[in-house]
Amino acid sequence: MRKVITFLGVASLGLVLMLSGCGTKAVPASTSQQFPSVNTQSNQPSVAATPVYKRTEVITSPDAAKQLLDDGNARFASGKTLSKDLGATRRMDLEKNGQHPFAIIVSCSDSRVPPEVLYDEALGDLFVVRVAGNVITPVELGSVEYAVEHLKTPLVVVLGHEFCGAVTAAVQGGEIPGSIAAIVDKIKPAIDTAKASGATGNDLIEKTADINVQNAIQDILKSSIVKHAVDAKEVKVLGAKYDLDTGVVQWYN
Ligand SMILES: [Zn+2]
Repeated sequence: MRKVITFLGVASLGLVLMLSGCGTKAVPASTSQQFPSVNTQSNQPSVAATPVYKRTEVITSPDAAKQLLDDGNARFASGKTLSKDLGATRRMDLEKNGQHPFAIIVSCSDSRVPPEVLYDEALGDLFVVRVAGNVITPVELGSVEYAVEHLKTPLVVVLGHEFCGAVTAAVQGGEIPGSIAAIVDKIKPAIDTAKASGATGNDLIEKTADINVQNAIQDILKSSIVKHAVDAKEVKVLGAKYDLDTGVVQWYN
């Protein structure tokens, strides 16, 4: 029970931080302002001056996809997010022409780590698989395989983050109730590896989070569908970590 409180407590603290930061961060610019911006250019000059983002090309290169993520995260971290085309015309276009997401993001369910926001992307851009602790089970792997095989998405990113509540709960150990144990069990191998490196305290938690991302990548590469695409140089599988306060995503290695 104590572990449940810890798990939820970390998430709650993050929610407070996220909400408290809304007044100064770019979140409103990428959500509430984008809808009225279509018809309010006369009385909202600052919004009207903001470029509207709408990706029309289909991205097939892993490196081009990676660059788009880098560009988007740089905009987010600097508070210069773009307005998004979320209007009816864009939605109908996506319905008619189908989705062509350029990146698959496997990320934690943590409310502070929403991929579309921190990468400053819009409708149809990212194929997102979210699960606490960004672990890979057959269900998550099936989602990744679907996007690789059927949507031809060229880049897979396993996105970890600092101060992960799931990782912290796993490291602290103890009795884990309910199905939360299934998540913790997936993280445990990373704890063993991190401990073997001599890490302790908070360093052990962050080291576990780092190794947990690498383990998820290895789980993804066990898929013959993904492996085939990687060998054909059609897909890259990369790891990254999100910094909660700076908003910056850094690639591993
Ligand atoms: Zn997390």
